Amino acid sequence: MDVCGNFPIDRQGASGKPDDADVCWISFPGKYKGGWDALTAQTTDSVACVFLCTPEDGEGRHCPDPDDNKALCLCHRIYGEAKPWGCYWYKRWKENVHRAVRHKQRLKAVFFAGQVGRGKVRMKDLPTLELRDGIGLGGSQKTELATADEEGWEYEEVDAAAFLPGAFPEGTQVDAWCDATKEWRRGTVAKFKKEVNEKGQEQVSWTVRCDTGDMIDTQYVMDAAMSMQRILDVLGLPKLVEILSQCLSRTGNVAVQPEVQPSRLASGVSEMLIRVHVKDIGTLHALYTVVQNEFREIDINEKLWEAGRLRGSSLPEIEVDKNRFFNLFEDFRLLSD
Ligand SMILES: [Zn+2]
Ligand SMILES: [Zn+2]
Repeated sequence: MDVCGNFPIDRQGASGKPDDADVCWISFPGKYKGGWDALTAQTTDSVACVFLCTPEDGEGRHCPDPDDNKALCLCHRIYGEAKPWGCYWYKRWKENVHRAVRHKQRLKAVFFAGQVGRGKVRMKDLPTLELRDGIGLGGSQKTELATADEEGWEYEEVDAAAFLPGAFPEGTQVDAWCDATKEWRRGTVAKFKKEVNEKGQEQVSWTVRCDTGDMIDTQYVMDAAMSMQRILDVLGLPKLVEILSQCLSRTGNVAVQPEVQPSRLASGVSEMLIRVHVKDIGTLHALYTVVQNEFREIDINEKLWEAGRLRGSSLPEIEVDKNRFFNLFEDFRLLSD
């Protein structure tokens, strides 16, 4: 689950008559506790979101999947395997939305601030994808909206900044999506705007002063502090290369000088490419062994954390994707065999 704070369980709006509501909120990011409180305190809308916090609520409970002939629980459909927090929340959530749909309520789903409409996945990809990639939606929300899309439920996509106008205050350093150049550009927030579009929907946008001096208007901003570029800015290139070299040379039999290239993918994922030159096939095989066995997220994050601490900064945790390396290695092995 995204949260386990003091969230009410599928609270049905202040009116207490959920079936009479015009609007039903079907998905909300658990990380915005303040926004949730603001929404549920004054609304007469209904709320389908289910946040289970204790075993008494049903946390840890499992429910059989009605569409699975092997009688597995719903976890298998949405996570690919049984999870300790269970799948009861999902059953409850789906029943809530069904009820809202039956009563012809307009459905609304809330995305992370600055990321409206992003990060959705397809139902069939749920069990295999990393849902906590921080793009657009929380992990459970990706499950919710994949289900909504599969069921054909229409819903309005709402930016959390509509409730949290201070999500990116003026002067905040951000990566802003530039539609003209189709890339993320580093800059600072100059202005936040909230307007109602022609469909009567609230729409938020930001004016960002790019580091290049240009001003752009955008619907999409991401926190620059949560980026690989920031790790590079805080540590400096020599220190970062030193850490990566150490992690790649732990056994002492591989001497490589990695190059790094931070970027933000169009999806919004911040990545850092690590490029390594190897001079002979022996080194490549040694490197393969190191990458497979010893190049571990936990060690890298520990070193980054310590180096950041010495500089008075806390750095975001990184994940390592070794697939590109393994694919290249496999191609090379096939070529040379
Ligand atoms: Zn009814
Ligand atoms: Zn389950």
